[in-house]
Amino acid sequence: MCGCYGVALPVMAAMPFTQLGLNAAILQAVQDAGYTEPTPIQAAAIPAIINGDDVIGIAQTGTGKTAAFTLPILNQLAATPRAAGERRRTRVLVIAPTRELVAQIEENVLAYARHVPVKIARVFGGVGEQPQKIALRDGCDIVIACPGRLLDLMRQGFGDFSQITHLVLDEADRMLDMGFLPDIRRIVDKLPKKRQTLLFSATLSREIEQLTKDFQRHPKIVQIGKRSNPAETVTQMVYEVSVPLKVELLKHLLLRDEALQMVIVFTRTKHGADKVARKLEQVGIKCGTLHANRSQNQRMKALADFKAWKLRVLVCTDIAARGIDVDGISHVVNFDFPPQPEDYVHRIGRTGRAQAIGDAISFVTPEDYGSLRSLERFIGRGLVRKRADDFDYNAKPPAAPDRPSDQRRDAGAQGAARGSRQPSARPQRSRRPGGGDRGRRPATSDSNAGKGATGGSASAAKPERRWGDKAREVFGKIRRGLGGGGQ
Ligand code: AMP
Repeated sequence: MCGCYGVALPVMAAMPFTQLGLNAAILQAVQDAGYTEPTPIQAAAIPAIINGDDVIGIAQTGTGKTAAFTLPILNQLAATPRAAGERRRTRVLVIAPTRELVAQIEENVLAYARHVPVKIARVFGGVGEQPQKIALRDGCDIVIACPGRLLDLMRQGFGDFSQITHLVLDEADRMLDMGFLPDIRRIVDKLPKKRQTLLFSATLSREIEQLTKDFQRHPKIVQIGKRSNPAETVTQMVYEVSVPLKVELLKHLLLRDEALQMVIVFTRTKHGADKVARKLEQVGIKCGTLHANRSQNQRMKALADFKAWKLRVLVCTDIAARGIDVDGISHVVNFDFPPQPEDYVHRIGRTGRAQAIGDAISFVTPEDYGSLRSLERFIGRGLVRKRADDFDYNAKPPAAPDRPSDQRRDAGAQGAARGSRQPSARPQRSRRPGGGDRGRRPATSDSNAGKGATGGSASAAKPERRWGDKAREVFGKIRRGLGGGGQ
């Protein structure tokens, strides 16, 4: 797939961290995070990065790629500390497509840098510029930024990027999709030519290959899994349902099945996200939303509440959900089926991260059949079709929409609807007390309609999670200890 450019590195697993060339401070942080062995991308990329090579990492979301670039970079920063009295200079620039991803990377870097004294600045739009200007002016070792705001601040003269030794482009494919290429080129133009450049992407398109040719020198390629392979630990299933009954089916599943503990729901539009959230709240399901019409503070709060188990469901649009790394998401629901297979892969990557378990549920209406077929070709297999027990697929759609404006916007709500079923009372949901029981969810009450390949409960007999609880605890402590530092 990579054509003739770059040298592919073998992917090794089951190698201890101690053999990767990391120093004691970094190994201690890895141990603190509860990681016992590197993920395949870490095993392959870390030695190459320590060796000074440029690296192209082709990896699904949730494979541990943030640590794959952060650990060796911190290793190098620790090996070349500032001389006494020397001014702090920015040596590392990480560019990522969304604010959420920037915040996520910062959180990871803070955890991995707990024994290495580094200062981090994060830079993204949607919030005031002043703290970011101050952080850049005062000097920091690592800048983690979205391209647009970073370029704005650079143009205003903030930050000194003349000493950069490491550039990381994370989720490069998404940055291209979002139209950031011109901004990225302008930023990279201002960086020293002699630097190490690491590029991570879920896919390797011709455009990405061109980018690597322009920005990298003799890169080594690390590719984990096939481009079209969604996270392998995710159980995927499809519910065929008519448009007007989608909300009813979602309520039904959430009210009936307590295995849906921590759920991300994807809608196509911001309005759709608000509407679904409202409908769920109406039946007592705690919900937050994450989309571009929400302020940065609202988005951060929704994410924090979701992580803290104050919300059971987070309803998102695609772009807002990029880079969300929340441990223990039990289900991803494609309320609106994504037309692009790549978006499906990214969405379901929110669950099943780092070998955790997870289910992906997709609602498919007759209009989505073409997209479903494309997806099944893309991932090379059919998805299991399921039917919800006791759900009336022939019910009349519910009565009038909950707000007058919905009447205009909601194509699915036309026509009077009588006799829609009321979901049964909300079952007692067992909130996970300490984090360790997510692998022991009760079997789902849904039955398999027999069309798909693997019937039966999607939630039963899952392996125990291997990672996450310890890491979450450590990240939490660090976050609390640093009081949201990094700005
Ligand atoms: P990423 O792909 O970088 O977004 O990482 C996904 C998740 O994997 C994060 O929650 C990390 O904390 C976790 N993780 C990263 N490396 C490891 C590892 N070696 N062992 C266990 N979990 C890991």
